[in-house]
Amino acid sequence: MDYSILADIYEKLEAVSSKLKKTEILAELFKSTPTSELPKIVLLIQGRVFPSYSEYELGVAEQMMMRAIALATGFKTEKVEEKFKKTGDLGLAVEECIKSKRQSSFAKKKVTVDDVFGNLQKLATITGSGSQEKKLKLITELLVSAKPKEARYIVRTILQDLRVGAGEGILRDAIASAFLTGDKAADAIEYALNLLPDFGEIARIAKEEGVDGLENVRVRIGKPLHVMLSEKAESIKEVLDKHGEVIAEWKYDGMRVIIEKRGKDIWLFTRRLENVTKQFPDIVELAREHLKPYQCIVDGEAVGIDKKTGNPLPFQMLSQRVQRKYDIEKMVKEIPIQVNLFDVICVESEMLISKSLAERKKTLEKIVAQVPGKFQFAKQIVSSDENQLKEFYEEALKARQEGLMLKVPQSHYVFGRHTDGWYKIKPTMENLDLAIIGATWGEGARASWLTSYVLGARDTKTGNFVEVGMMSTGLTEKEYEQMTKTLQPLIVEEKGRTVRVRPKVVVEVKYQEIQKSPTYGSGFALRFPALSRLRPDKGPDEVDTIERVKKLYESQGRAG
Ligand code: AMP
Repeated sequence: MDYSILADIYEKLEAVSSKLKKTEILAELFKSTPTSELPKIVLLIQGRVFPSYSEYELGVAEQMMMRAIALATGFKTEKVEEKFKKTGDLGLAVEECIKSKRQSSFAKKKVTVDDVFGNLQKLATITGSGSQEKKLKLITELLVSAKPKEARYIVRTILQDLRVGAGEGILRDAIASAFLTGDKAADAIEYALNLLPDFGEIARIAKEEGVDGLENVRVRIGKPLHVMLSEKAESIKEVLDKHGEVIAEWKYDGMRVIIEKRGKDIWLFTRRLENVTKQFPDIVELAREHLKPYQCIVDGEAVGIDKKTGNPLPFQMLSQRVQRKYDIEKMVKEIPIQVNLFDVICVESEMLISKSLAERKKTLEKIVAQVPGKFQFAKQIVSSDENQLKEFYEEALKARQEGLMLKVPQSHYVFGRHTDGWYKIKPTMENLDLAIIGATWGEGARASWLTSYVLGARDTKTGNFVEVGMMSTGLTEKEYEQMTKTLQPLIVEEKGRTVRVRPKVVVEVKYQEIQKSPTYGSGFALRFPALSRLRPDKGPDEVDTIERVKKLYESQGRAG
């Protein structure tokens, strides 16, 4: 397929704001795409060349892109930068450059979808010395032949900022509308995506095998999946009143880890579908030795352990291991882990998700050879006695864990959903998980750091983030520096000393109280917000909603 067809579609998507219209445009495109190209087209529509869970990164920053544009168009880099500053979008900058430089482009070689897809995938595999030059070559090769509009989207795709507003919901509806009929279509797609979170593959299955095919999607060992999630309960009593008896487990303060095994091969995935196998050779080793089946998937929580005291470490310490790409063996020694297993999803070729939790627990006991303190079952009791459960809760808190998970013994394993099968119980005025949507440059010695952050809650009606506060405490010097590095590539607008950033970074925030606010878009303001911890395990779609802020405000007893 010619890339120009895709560029036209992007432009159409950009021009309309109605979700329905966008869905229609995409459904038409998918219908007319040959099956062999469908997975690629679906990924490109998302602005990707790898599924969302892939570890591959294109690794091209704005600076390198400006050089590539300069090379391809003959403009000086400073000129490109000037255009970038004016539009805030290197896509538009390159488009302008090409338009004003080239009088005619009819003699040029046509750019195909394969050309773009191929070169972009190659970008991710280039490492080591001379990699910058090699990357530049791959990008300029595309831009030299691209028409202005094509260049706009090639550049934006490489910078992972496509700006056409075709989110996952729209994509899901478009695939359904292109290939499926009947009222089971939406559920079938959602089910399949939880097990196989790759829209390209899902579109292919929908086209070739329909609803049946999607319903028959099996977990694939070696691929991530959307784990089961919990709901918050106000009290132990509330859950007991509803369900009678529960399996109560300690709620550990660590990292969710899905362990997948086939023979000697082990894969580790987080709740956000990241592959963390390389970062945790210690867990790999334990899993290889102590999971008995040839093939299985188990679910648990990994906690960092303080070498001196044996106590659990704060999550932030463990997250250093998640982010580490080098000196991994050193980290293994510095921050030892403990894996607490609590569920099993499949054993050999048998899926266990429709078995009750009580049955799955029995299977889990059979397939794991525990190593106390290292690779063990989550601490649990089965009880219907409120006092006994309260004691167990106190025990968990004393052991510096977060609280309890109360699980319904009859519940099935439900992928990717907050269900009434699992409840979490945590103490106090709840912290809020919020997105950073803006920031301000510091003063004096801190002038090169972004030091205060605008916090946003999610508005489920519009899909936007609205301001609920400004946070500038709770970070160490090092964290300010790190946060600045993280936020800089996300800046979309700069005015004086303040910037607006794309809502990608999620932070857990503590605060003293919630007040009504006439100045903030949300109508509420957090008093004295401070960083509790970074939440690299959460995405913007998991940020707390305005409704939740309002509920918490009301629960302070001062509504109205
Ligand atoms: P939250 O992050 O507060 O929404 O709580 C849900 C998270 O608690 C899960 O994703 C797990 O990472 C973690 N967790 C800790 N212990 C358990 C447990 N025993 N069962 C399930 N999840 C647990």
